[in-house]
Amino acid sequence: MELQENIKRVQENIEKYAEMAGSDAKKIKLLAVSKTVDADCVQAAYDAGLRDFAENRVQEFLKKKEALPKDIGWNIIGQLQTNKVKYIINNGVDLIHSLDRYDLALELQKECEKKDTSISVLVQVNIAKEDSKAGIYEEDVHAFFDKIASLDRLKIKGLMTIAPYTTDTMYIRKVFGKAKKLYDVLKPKQDGFEWLSMGMSNDYGEAILEGANMLRVGSAIFGERIYK
Ligand SMILES: *Cc1c(COP(=O)(O)O)cnc(C)c1O
Repeated sequence: MELQENIKRVQENIEKYAEMAGSDAKKIKLLAVSKTVDADCVQAAYDAGLRDFAENRVQEFLKKKEALPKDIGWNIIGQLQTNKVKYIINNGVDLIHSLDRYDLALELQKECEKKDTSISVLVQVNIAKEDSKAGIYEEDVHAFFDKIASLDRLKIKGLMTIAPYTTDTMYIRKVFGKAKKLYDVLKPKQDGFEWLSMGMSNDYGEAILEGANMLRVGSAIFGERIYK
């Protein structure tokens, strides 16, 4: 089956690049980005051994979560509207990858207080300063961390970034390398800081070489997405 072959290929590549980077492939977490993929297909990926999935639309996440095994670790990627926060707090989300602005941090804090819980998040950084992408600029990251420090319901678990879509692999590595540097500076100051989420289907090799320990891979697993 194609899906199984895809998963195997991705896992072999992760091992290959981890070896090149001198890091341990077992410490690199692979998230299967299942946005637009139907629940049966996600189930097939689960049956092939994957346990961690990522969605970018709250409604789609909620539907799939209902239909699929309870031991799946769900990740929210992509821009999150504040009015969607109430649906995902205390509702089976392992990690939000896209904390990119203060008003979202405030809303997450507020909703967690209301439900007497907490939420694990990654701060999204926009290293290449692309207008089309969300995320905090490198030079603003420290101030942003200071600003959210008092929001005690947010567990800041690391950083997430997206590289520009280009075939220039040296540039991609430069962007990922900058994110890794930032991660290394922040890690000793932040309790529970653990994840550097970077690398997608086209650039997860470069991400591993630059120190990613969480990959978000969609089309290399499920095939090209067909948008409706
Ligand atoms: C869609 C998406 C991915 C996966 O993209 P692929 O190129 O299909 O691997 C990863 N991260 C984010 C934030 C995405 O929106």
